[in-house]
Amino acid sequence: MTKYIFVTGGVVSSLGKGLAASSIGQLLEARGMKVQMMKLDPYINVDPGTMSPFQHGEVFVTDDGAETDLDLGHYERFTNAHLTKANNWTSGRIYLSVIEKERRGDYLGKTIQVIPHITDEIKAAVRVVAEKEKPDILIVEIGGTVGDIESLPFMEAIRQIGNEEGRNNALFIHVTLVPFIAAAGELKTKPTQHSVKELREIGIAPDILLCRSDRPLSLDLRKKIALFCNVKENAVISALDVKTIYEVPLAFHEQSLDALIVDELHLKEQFPNVDLKKWRELVSTIKEPSEGAVKIAIVGKYVELEDSYKSLREALTHAGVANNLKVNVHWVESESLIDDENYGSRLQDYDAILVPGGFGKRGISGMLRAIKYARKSGTPYFGICLGMQTACIEFARNVCGLRDADSTEFNSETPFPIIFKLRDLVAVEELGGTMRLGAWACQLKEGSLAREIYHNAAEISERHRHRYEFNPEYRAVLEKEGLIISGVSPDGKFVEMIELPREKHPFFVGCQFHPEYKSKPLAAHPLFVSFVRAAHENRLHSENLKDDVSSNKQIEMPERAIIESED
Ligand code: GLN
Repeated sequence: MTKYIFVTGGVVSSLGKGLAASSIGQLLEARGMKVQMMKLDPYINVDPGTMSPFQHGEVFVTDDGAETDLDLGHYERFTNAHLTKANNWTSGRIYLSVIEKERRGDYLGKTIQVIPHITDEIKAAVRVVAEKEKPDILIVEIGGTVGDIESLPFMEAIRQIGNEEGRNNALFIHVTLVPFIAAAGELKTKPTQHSVKELREIGIAPDILLCRSDRPLSLDLRKKIALFCNVKENAVISALDVKTIYEVPLAFHEQSLDALIVDELHLKEQFPNVDLKKWRELVSTIKEPSEGAVKIAIVGKYVELEDSYKSLREALTHAGVANNLKVNVHWVESESLIDDENYGSRLQDYDAILVPGGFGKRGISGMLRAIKYARKSGTPYFGICLGMQTACIEFARNVCGLRDADSTEFNSETPFPIIFKLRDLVAVEELGGTMRLGAWACQLKEGSLAREIYHNAAEISERHRHRYEFNPEYRAVLEKEGLIISGVSPDGKFVEMIELPREKHPFFVGCQFHPEYKSKPLAAHPLFVSFVRAAHENRLHSENLKDDVSSNKQIEMPERAIIESED
């Protein structure tokens, strides 16, 4: 039988509710439970796919091609839950589904109301996940902050589920803020009290409070919160800021949060022990890696908003752990490279360069500059989605001499559309929508670096989110000049991976998919692991060169030849 944990938030947004929910999931898995996770988002958009990254941060893509909230990325990274479109619902999608039913006449002429029709639809969405996956625990996070008008139907729905399930089968956890007021020199509990009051007005009495604060809560303060908010003293958990997000489950465990949860849900006998060994090792490697650090430049457009590259950032951290390295990420706004004559010396500072996914024309020439630099200097390069497309454009322009080669996304008039919409040409209707989304198979070329990185797998599956793709008409021209097409879709229509020959460049790899979506802290993605390793080797190599210069030794030529057939 599935038991439920509902996670709500109060006082302000951005309290890290998603991380708190994920950390609870991780802790319960460490106790041996099967965990599933869901996010209910009160906004009216049907999904975040069309929202600006500035509004919403990253769009996380699941295997089944759903464009979801970035918290689902945390859920998949912290737990073993495999998520689909069933795990993320917005108000928009709930209403759309109710309205479609109404149009079909499914409600037999009844008046359609928020209660019970919208709330029933929400409850059904939650129940479907419980019934299909049969987890021991289903953690359901409600987006937004208590008191938001649009979150009310969700609150009412979870209140009803709580009632239907009974006290021992459903828990309400509320994440709140206990701010430090400098003028008074004190932590203040009033916002938490108000937020709990608001929750109770809608009929939800929280069982556990996770109090975000920048300093520890004293025992007196906990007692006060417990008294005013009507929770047990040991249910007031302090959620302090931590060095790495992966430390959150450990911090919760130290305050016996998992013990409290299994107690409250009567699961203690079934799941008495917790095994956090691997997770502890992970955190200690992140904090103190034995091999030092690498410096990686991410050259992109939305770099000012790191939230839009959440999974990417995490994938690099995971790859750092796998290599026992700290990965220092430097976000380089691609536009800033365009008018910078010294862009080469700026980029020289980094051990490796990555161009991530992105949309639109802005900043493209800056990315092309960075790629050209990486290709010619032998700096490890990893291009993801847009980063693969721009690497192909750069190669076409500067190595194959196809001047003004471009993607039709940036220049519809280009004489050499290296990147275009393949589906327009071959009318690939079954792709649906306007984007190629979700998991697709990719076959790897024998002998290629890509194949080696994937431990010699002949076929892999990775998640996609793109509208444009490599134009197969140019395949022969680019291959003739030395570009290796190392991954293609099984039907041969889509180029999925490219690389430069290993004799010419130590690591120059592009992929049309987003490997970052599948990287996990304890199972780093092989492409990122190899990229970070290449960055490290590059660092050691340049340090050796520097040492040799300072000791006046004869400098050996770097082994890496540089492609010279250039503009
Ligand atoms: N804008 C490109 C496309 O639509 C790349 C997309 C991406 O990087 N996610 O194909």
